[in-house]
Amino acid sequence: MTIQRICILGSTGSIGCSTLDVVARHPEQLSVYALTAHQNITLLAKQVQQFKPRVVVLPDAATLQSFLNHYHDSWTPEYRLGTEGLCSVAADSEVDTVMAAIVGAACLAPVLAAAQAGKRILLANKEALVAAGSLFLNAVKQSRATLIPIDSEHNAIYQCLPETIRAPIPEQAHPSILRLLLTASGGPFRTWPLDDFATITPQQACAHPNWSMGQKISVDSATMLNKGLEVIEAHWLFAMPADKIQVLIHPQSIVHSMVEYIDGSVMAQMGQPDMRTSIAFGLGFPERIQSGVPPLSFSALSQLEFEEPSLERFPCLALAFDALRTSQAACIALNASNEVAVAQFLNGQIAYLDIPRVIQASIDAMLKHDTTVIESIEHVVALDQQARHTANQISLSFTQRNHA
Ligand code: NAD
Ligand code: MG
Repeated sequence: MTIQRICILGSTGSIGCSTLDVVARHPEQLSVYALTAHQNITLLAKQVQQFKPRVVVLPDAATLQSFLNHYHDSWTPEYRLGTEGLCSVAADSEVDTVMAAIVGAACLAPVLAAAQAGKRILLANKEALVAAGSLFLNAVKQSRATLIPIDSEHNAIYQCLPETIRAPIPEQAHPSILRLLLTASGGPFRTWPLDDFATITPQQACAHPNWSMGQKISVDSATMLNKGLEVIEAHWLFAMPADKIQVLIHPQSIVHSMVEYIDGSVMAQMGQPDMRTSIAFGLGFPERIQSGVPPLSFSALSQLEFEEPSLERFPCLALAFDALRTSQAACIALNASNEVAVAQFLNGQIAYLDIPRVIQASIDAMLKHDTTVIESIEHVVALDQQARHTANQISLSFTQRNHA
C-alpha cells in the first residue's frame, strides 16, 4: 500500500488538529509531509515532535526564532517562510494531498498553488472559493486536481450526489436536482430576544451550541454569515444558482445537508457534529476509514427540527444571497469586510450589530467601481485589499461613535 503524504495548511487550528487526530489513527496509510502555522507555536512544536514533518512553514523569521526557542527535539525539519513558503509546500512534488485549513483569504494563494499543481485538495477553507470561485475551479479543472469539500454541509451534499453528477466539477446545475438544502444550527442567538442583540459580547458569540471551532467561524455562525459563505461555496462547487439553494435551521446539527431531486426523493447525510467525519471521508476517499467519531444513537435523538431562518434576526444571510446574485466583486467585498468586522468585534472595537452594517457599506462602496471583469488572481487580491481598507474606515467611524 502506498502511503499518502499530506500537507496540512493551518495545522494548529480546529480543523488542523482534527485532521491530525484522524491521521494519527492510520499510520500505515497516512503520513504528514508538512505542517504550517501562523501563531500558536507551542502547539506547533508538539505537533512537529509527534508527527515529524519534513517541512514546516511559519509566517516570518521572527516567528521561526520563537518557534526554535520552544522546540527541543532532535528531528530537524526544513523551514520555509511566508506566503511563498505556503505556496511552495502546497505544490511540492512530494505532496499527494493538501488539507486547506487556513482561515480566511490567506488560504487563497496556497490553495490555488495546490490546484495548479494538480493535488488532491481537501477544502475546509471557504473564503478562497467565495473570493475567487471561477478562477480557483478553472485551475482545478485545467490541472485535473481532485477537490473534495470538507465543510460539513458540502461534504454532506457531495456524499448525497451520485458520482456521475458530482465529478469532477459540474459545468451546470444537473436537471435532476430540484434544490440543495443547507442546514444551519442557528448558532447561539437563535432564540435570543432581538432587543438584547446590541449587548452581545465576543465570548457569547463564540459559544457555539453544537460545534467546537475557531473564533472567526464561530462568530460567522452566530451571525449566519457563515451559512451565507456556504451558499456561495455550494453555488461554485455544485454549479447551483442562488434560487436552488435553500437554508434551513436545524438546531440539532445531525442532518448535515440534503439534496432534493425532481422525483420527490430527498437524500440526507447524517452524523455527529464532529468534523472528523468529513475529514476522514476526504482522507480515505474513495474508501471509508475510521474517524474516531462515535456512532449516532438514533434512540437517544429525541427530535429533529427544521425551520426557515428569519432574515431580521440574521441580516448577514440576506447580504450573502444578495452578493451572490450581484457579482463576484460583491462576494469579494462581503468576505473581506466580514473578516475585518469580525476581527474588530472580537477586539471590542465595534458592536455585534455593526457587523452587517460594515459589510453592507463595504459592498455598496465596492459597487461604485467598475468591476465587471475579474480575470486574474492579482485583481481578486487588489479588490480584497480595497474592501478591507473601506471596511476598516467604516469600522473606525463606528468605534468613534460607540466611544463618544
Ligand atoms: P482556526 O482559527 O481554528 O485555525 C486557523 C489556522 O490557520 C491556524 O492554524 C492558524 O495558525 C492559521 N492561520 C491563521 N491566519 C493565517 C494567515 N494569515 N496565514 C497563514 N496561516 C494562518 O480556524 P478553523 O476553525 O480551523 O477553520 C479553518 C477554515 O476551515 C476556515 O476557513 C473555516 O471557515 C473552515 N471550516 C472550519 C470548520 C470548523 O469546524 N472549525 C468547519 C467548516 C469549515
Ligand atoms: Mg459548515
